[in-house]
Amino acid sequence: MQCSLAGMASLAVAPIGLSSCTAGKKDEKPCGPDINISFQEGIPPGNSLNEKLDFMESLGVVGFEPGGRGLAGRVNEIQEALKNRNIRVAAICAGFDGFILAEDPAVKEQFDTSMREIIAAAGELGSTGVIMVPAFNGQQPCKPHTMDTRNYLCEQLHELGEYAVKCGTTVILEPLNRGECFYMRLVADGAAIARDAQSEGVKCMGDFWHMKEETSDYGAFWSAGTKYLQHVHIASRGRRLMPGEDGEKDDYRDGFRALKEMGYDKFITLECGTQGERKDTVTAAVELMRAQWAEV
Ligand code: MG
Repeated sequence: MQCSLAGMASLAVAPIGLSSCTAGKKDEKPCGPDINISFQEGIPPGNSLNEKLDFMESLGVVGFEPGGRGLAGRVNEIQEALKNRNIRVAAICAGFDGFILAEDPAVKEQFDTSMREIIAAAGELGSTGVIMVPAFNGQQPCKPHTMDTRNYLCEQLHELGEYAVKCGTTVILEPLNRGECFYMRLVADGAAIARDAQSEGVKCMGDFWHMKEETSDYGAFWSAGTKYLQHVHIASRGRRLMPGEDGEKDDYRDGFRALKEMGYDKFITLECGTQGERKDTVTAAVELMRAQWAEV
């Protein structure tokens, strides 16, 4: 996970996921969902939220992924900024205090309080869900990695998921990698925990950056499938820059093929840095994503 910092879509917003359908025409790709590209707040150039959103609109970007920290105090700001734009709030990137597997009850309490506040704000903004990791490797003291802890995690996530459903949103587990979160590093790991939490409000996601540990991008997304896959993050695959900045490594077609096959109509958010001129590298990244999506 990597966060930068913003609403409910106005009624003017077109529904996402509608297909540019070419079915029936010979030699053309069959119907499939459109790619719904989303940006975290630090991705677009701009000195204000509105400047950033203007840039995003100029590229046809339809999703915005703010960080969760302070979100409750930004609901009005974000709603206002998104009014009359074809941009919706995608997921919310973390931003809570504490962590759910904390051994210290006070730290667990910090998590419960701050996470529920973010979930409520996410619901007001029409967000697809709040991204979380149960515990990073470095977060201590942490409950031991045992079966009891996994059962505890699933019970706690069930409660959180049910709360999210009441708020009109979800909780999204983000699998990382061995170095950051050894017990949840495959998309399937997140999906299995979401399944065992037994709540419609608990989902998972895939981040192309962390998915370097997967044996197959295609298999990874399908392991979550339509029931659990709620969000996607993307970055270049060598240095976590804009897609395209790592040249031939930045091939997302295997994963995109799975997403198209499953009719994925949620967001793919850029979560990365850049070593180039931001307006150029971001524009090139969007073009590359659209081109590869169209190819599969
Ligand atoms: Mg991520």
